[in-house]
Amino acid sequence: MSTSEAKKLEALVALEQALVKVPLEQFKRAFKTSQKHVEKEWAALATSAQEHIAKIDLKNGNKTEALKVIDSLTTRFTQLKKKLQESKEEELLYTNRIRIRLQHLDDLLNVPSQESPAFTRWSKTQLDRILVDYMLREGCFDSAKELAGEAGIEQLVDIELFAQSKMIEDALKRRSCVECLAWCKENNSALKKIKSNLEFNLRMQEYIELVRAQKLNEAILYLKKHLTPCADVHLKEVQMAAALLAFDPQTLCGRYKSLFDATRWNLLTAQFRATNCTLNTLTTQSLLHTSLQAGLAALKTPQCYDPETRNVNCPVCNASVYGVLAEGVPFSHHVNSCLVCRITGEIMDEGNFPMVLPNGYVYSQKALEEMALKHDGVVTCPRTGQQFMASQMRKAFAI
Ligand SMILES: [Zn+2]
Repeated sequence: MSTSEAKKLEALVALEQALVKVPLEQFKRAFKTSQKHVEKEWAALATSAQEHIAKIDLKNGNKTEALKVIDSLTTRFTQLKKKLQESKEEELLYTNRIRIRLQHLDDLLNVPSQESPAFTRWSKTQLDRILVDYMLREGCFDSAKELAGEAGIEQLVDIELFAQSKMIEDALKRRSCVECLAWCKENNSALKKIKSNLEFNLRMQEYIELVRAQKLNEAILYLKKHLTPCADVHLKEVQMAAALLAFDPQTLCGRYKSLFDATRWNLLTAQFRATNCTLNTLTTQSLLHTSLQAGLAALKTPQCYDPETRNVNCPVCNASVYGVLAEGVPFSHHVNSCLVCRITGEIMDEGNFPMVLPNGYVYSQKALEEMALKHDGVVTCPRTGQQFMASQMRKAFAI
C-alpha cells in the first residue's frame, strides 16, 4: 500500500473514534455503578452482621435467633452475588463489543489496498453502520434491527443506547420527567462533570406543571425540596419559580407566560438528546448527514445554484434534494477546473473534445455527434434553440 493510501486509511480510522468510545463510556459507567452498589451493600452487610452477632448470646443457647441471623445474612449475600453476576455480564458485553470494534478498525488498517475486495467489504459494512445509525436516530428501530441482523453488525451499532434514549424522549413527549430524572440519577457524576443543568430544568418543569394544575400546596413543597437547594447556582430561576405561584397559566406577563409555554417540553427533549450524545461521545448529527455533507462540499461549486450553469450529473445541482442539504456546506476548492458538458454532464477532455458552435456556446463532441446522427447532421443549441450543421462546429482549446 502506498504512503498516501495508508494516510487516507488512518484518517478514516480517526473519524471512527465514537465507535470505540461509546462502549468504553458505557463500560466505565456500568463499572462505577456496580462498584458503588457493592461498596454500599458491603458496608451495610458488615455493619448489620456485627450488630446481629453482638446481640446473640450463644452461651445461653439461643440457637434459633442465631440461625435467623445467619439466614438473613445468607439471603443478602446471595442477592449481592446475583447483582455481581449481572454486573459482570454487563461489563463482559461491553468489553466484548470494544474488542470487536477494535478488530473492525484493525481490519481497515490491514487491507492490502483501496482497490482490494477487503476494502470493498469494509466499506459495505461502514455503509450499513451509517444507515443503521441514521434509522436509530430517526426512531425506525425495527428496520434498524433488521438491517443490523442481516448485515451481522449488531455489535458495531448502538441499538440499546438509542432504544433507551427513545424511551426517555417518548416519555418527555407524554410530559413525564420521571424517566429522564432516573437517567440523570444514573449519570449523576458525569452530568456534574460537564456542569449540566438538565436535572434542574426537569425539576423546574415538574414544578411548573404543579402550578399549572393549581396544586399550590404540592408546588410549594416541591419548590422547597428540589429547587431552593439549587439557589446558589440558579438563584434567578428559583426566584422566578417562587413568584410563579402568584400567576395563573393564562397570564399575559411575558417572563411568566414563557414559563408556562408548552414548547419548554421540546427544549427539554432537545437538551436531553444533546446531553446523551455528549455523555456517550456521539455526534449530535447522524453519520449519514456528516458523510453526505462532506461529499456534497467536495462537489459544490458556485455554478450549482445557477439554472444556466447546472450540471445534470451533479447532485448539488439537484436543487430539490441534495441542493437543500448542501446549502450550509462550503464550496469545494478546485485547484484545476474541468469543463463539463451541459447536455450530458460528462467531462470534456481529449477523449471527448469541447466543440464550439457558431453562436459561441460549447458542448461535448459526444453530445453533438449523437444529436447530429439522430437529426440528419443538424444540431440544436439547447440554450438558444438555434440550429447548425454538424460540419460548422469547431474544436475549442482552453488555455
Ligand atoms: Zn453542481
